[in-house]
Amino acid sequence: MSAKLPVEILIETVVETGLCTRCGTCVGACPAKNLGIGDPLGACLPVAAEACTSCGMCLDGCPGASVDFAPLEKGLFGDAVPNRLLGVVRGAYLAHASDAIIRRNGSSGGVVTAMLLDLVGRGESKGAVLFAPHREEPWRGWGRIASSPEEIAAAAQSRYHLSPLNTALGEMRDAKGDFAYVGIPCQIHGLRKLQAALWRPAGIRLSPIIGIYCGNNLYYEATRVMLKKLGVRRPEDVAALSYREGVWPGSFVARTADGVVRSISKLDFNQVIPFYINRRCLFCIDLANELADLSVGDGWAKEGSGGDGWSVVLVRTETGERVFDGAVRSGVLEAEPITVEAAERMHSHAFDLKKTGAFLRLGLWKGWGCAVPRYDRPGPRVTAGRRFFEVVLSLQFAAASSWVGRAVFRVLPARALGRLFRFLRKRWMRSTARR
Ligand SMILES: Cc1cc2nc3c(=O)[nH]c(=O)nc-3n(C[C@H](O)[C@H](O)[C@H](O)COP(=O)(O)OP(=O)(O)OC[C@H]3O[C@@H](n4cnc5c(N)ncnc54)[C@H](O)[C@@H]3O)c2cc1C
Ligand code: SF4
Ligand code: SF4
Ligand code: SF4
Repeated sequence: MSAKLPVEILIETVVETGLCTRCGTCVGACPAKNLGIGDPLGACLPVAAEACTSCGMCLDGCPGASVDFAPLEKGLFGDAVPNRLLGVVRGAYLAHASDAIIRRNGSSGGVVTAMLLDLVGRGESKGAVLFAPHREEPWRGWGRIASSPEEIAAAAQSRYHLSPLNTALGEMRDAKGDFAYVGIPCQIHGLRKLQAALWRPAGIRLSPIIGIYCGNNLYYEATRVMLKKLGVRRPEDVAALSYREGVWPGSFVARTADGVVRSISKLDFNQVIPFYINRRCLFCIDLANELADLSVGDGWAKEGSGGDGWSVVLVRTETGERVFDGAVRSGVLEAEPITVEAAERMHSHAFDLKKTGAFLRLGLWKGWGCAVPRYDRPGPRVTAGRRFFEVVLSLQFAAASSWVGRAVFRVLPARALGRLFRFLRKRWMRSTARR
């Protein structure tokens, strides 16, 4: 019997077991162009043709079934000791774009877009690998290389649906020069695993690697259902779609071709999470994008301070420091230093979900017969009460994402459920911030 091809192992052990994060790394890494993403608005999973040359890159770069942080951290940060919640941190800040339009158009403070525009404007980067609105289908994002300031500015804001960004790495074969890169943690885990496996497209350098925080991601169905709840029949009727438009933290806003505008606030949009979260995200232990040169998330410490959005920024490497300090010095960013404890506190509920809850879920769901990923990190010690809470939370996730749960969700009123979710988030933030 002939040995299995690496791509067959990938499909069997990651895709078919439900461990795929949808990062797109396997597709972008394949020199034979043997992999593609099937049905991006559906399951959004890699599918293989029959041109495999057995190089193994797809399997080496895949973060779905395992991530060993220690060797990757050693290569990136040397002997620096990572903080348990945040990873390696050289400096922590609250920041936003100095330009009011970039700030207003961003998800939180427009920091990512301002830094990219600064890098390209100064000729340090030829462009950026990022997740932008699709040219022909504006209701969804896609991974691409953006070179002009207009393309970079148009990519601002988070798109909360499965995002196989790293498929764009395949396009890098024809590029030359230095490019920045922006991604969520699993996309950067894939990229770092590839780099550790000596994946090097000739003539290009990816730097800086800008990481955005990620609590979870959603099947595209979440967007479809929310559009319906707001009175937009199908995504194809949408001429422009944003998830974080307007005053921070912004709103999910759909504009149809015939001029109708429908919206719901971002915090109320969160009601879709239990029903449409990618199952693999329940087992993800990285919120703050620990393998990036610098990380950017919502600066919740400034929530309720009125007006402008703020981002939290964690600088991790010399490269990250040079880029961030350069943007502050050139007046592109306004920034104030904060303590590591403040950075931990403002995301206490999300750290509870990923740095305590995820480790408990790994054991719990494995016991229920589900495939779970493997990490080289132990979880924290927890109380019996926290364990019990996790069982309740896990049962809630399982019930909400069942077909019955989703059927019920589809008929529940969006505004009332949104208010309930907002209330529960506040309670969770308060209770975890006290610990
Ligand atoms: C799926 C997802 C979940 C997130 N969860 C959290 C969270 O729990 N807590 C938190 O503090 N922050 C979270 N964020 C990050 C947050 O929404 C902002 O992206 C971050 O604060 C940076 O804001 P900004 O205004 O500086 O960036 P902007 O200037 O708005 O730039 C955002 C950049 O993000 C890129 N991007 C958009 N969508 C995606 C995507 N799906 N995949 C990869 N790149 C993308 C764009 O290309 C753009 O360059 C999440 C983001 C995403 C995409
Ligand atoms: S050619 Fe290499 S990267 Fe492509 S599918 Fe085969 S093993 Fe994977
Ligand atoms: S590399 Fe990413 S997209 Fe490909 S199988 Fe692994 S997790 Fe899924
Ligand atoms: S929670 Fe983790 S696995 Fe899920 S999309 Fe975010 S980074 Fe990827």
